Amino acid sequence: MKPWVASHRETRDHLSEYVEGELDDRTRTRIMRHLARCDRCRAMLESFLRTLEQLRSLGDMEQVTPAPATANAVLRRIQQDEP
Ligand SMILES: [Zn+2]
Repeated sequence: MKPWVASHRETRDHLSEYVEGELDDRTRTRIMRHLARCDRCRAMLESFLRTLEQLRSLGDMEQVTPAPATANAVLRRIQQDEP
């Protein structure tokens, strides 16, 4: 059985699915619990959301929707910036 709260690693691995609402309820709840107690993962989520927001507003101007692959690339870049 999995623990009631997601690990640091698991949260980061699932961040883009979490944002896109692609997780099952159970995983989503576990990640929410981790985010509630982990400042660093919350900061990562916020910068991820901000970057996606910027991509989407660019997308609107050009009539292009960023692909999920773009979201993953953004996420990887944010993760690499982490000390
Ligand atoms: Zn964390």
